[in-house]
Amino acid sequence: MKAVVYNGPFDVSVENVEDPRIEDANDAIIRITTANICGSDLHPYEGRVEFEPGSVFGHENMGIVEEVGPGVNRIKVGDRVSVPFNLACGTCRNCTVGFTSACLRANPSGQPGAGYGYPMMGPYRGGQAELLRVPWADFNLLELPAGNEHELDFAMLSDIFPTGYHGVELAKLAPGETIAIWGAGPVGLMAAHSAVLRGASQVFVVDFEPDRLALAEQFGATPVNAADVDAVEAITDATDGFGVDCGVEAVGYQAHDPAGDEHPAMVMDGLIAAVRATGRIGVVGVYEPEDPGASADAAKEGRYSFDFGTAFTKGLAIGTGQCPVKRYNRELRDLVIRGVATPGRLVSHELAITEAPRAYDQFDKRVDGWTKVVLHP
Ligand code: NAD
Ligand code: ZN
Ligand code: ZN
Repeated sequence: MKAVVYNGPFDVSVENVEDPRIEDANDAIIRITTANICGSDLHPYEGRVEFEPGSVFGHENMGIVEEVGPGVNRIKVGDRVSVPFNLACGTCRNCTVGFTSACLRANPSGQPGAGYGYPMMGPYRGGQAELLRVPWADFNLLELPAGNEHELDFAMLSDIFPTGYHGVELAKLAPGETIAIWGAGPVGLMAAHSAVLRGASQVFVVDFEPDRLALAEQFGATPVNAADVDAVEAITDATDGFGVDCGVEAVGYQAHDPAGDEHPAMVMDGLIAAVRATGRIGVVGVYEPEDPGASADAAKEGRYSFDFGTAFTKGLAIGTGQCPVKRYNRELRDLVIRGVATPGRLVSHELAITEAPRAYDQFDKRVDGWTKVVLHP
């Protein structure tokens, strides 16, 4: 089958690789209809994290069940399904309390949490390919209505819609409250959509990319272009000097200033300044753990210095982490079916999988208008 293969930094190609097969009684094989490119794929693409050449990318997957192992009885061949990016066993201590993002069994490396297309998240090939093997299929797969309606909306259920929602949940947004979201990438836009759905009275979205900020406005948010104004000042002024009730970090450790220089702490500092005393911050942008074994060019300290003292003085609560997709994806699916949620609006490009190299290049360079790319094998 054809798959998007990582060769090295800034180098992906579409190659023929071996078809996946049922390896365990609880496996299913999915024929992928849509697989998205994610900001998280850019961490290895840009060489920020080590990635084995030959790895198949892709953790935002959906498709049709092609084959199931003898132990699968809920999911049937022919079902249309969304595949959460967290791959989880369903029965470990963390899975049973809803933290499928921290499954203790699925990742043999011992790090909590497993996923597709990310070697450090376990030996599971990604879904930017024609076929994908899904372990513990009955537990992991979310069934979708048959047909091809809402394909782009449903394609957002495997990661970024639940992740944006999780950011807002970690920020404990209550109806009528105000929220500031740093980052108008796909995750930040989905956080904005979620905040509006949850009844925020005003949603600020901070970024430097005018096309992305325009989309944020279409999702009902107030755009703040940090290249033109001091974002903290603008948000403080707009909330009568009080600050927002809560905020979401949807950028990650590759945060940069308007000139392009990386400043991993600047987003947390902005949020800590813009959120009112005793407010809350949800961090879904990714930060890497300390990795003493990493080579020098990919080494990560795991230590990001931000103004923790002000966070303490203001009594802020900070929630972090990977999104446990299964906690939200059923309800978010139903909001799509009822026409209340329309996450697929952010998709800018639908391309054949053979166009992946160009898509990675353009999405990575944030070329105007390349907000979210989905690939169809
Ligand atoms: P993206 O790279 O497309 O978007 C990031 C946005 O942040 C860009 O629009 C960029 O212009 C903006 N930005 C950069 N520096 C900024 C700054 N100082 N102030 C304001 N905006 C700034 O990525 P994405 O797909 O939206 O993902 C965002 C983050 O979320 C990434 O770190 C990704 O790995 C992470 N993520 C986390 C989870 C999870 O489960 N927690 C899931 C998916 C993605
Ligand atoms: Zn993703
Ligand atoms: Zn588990």
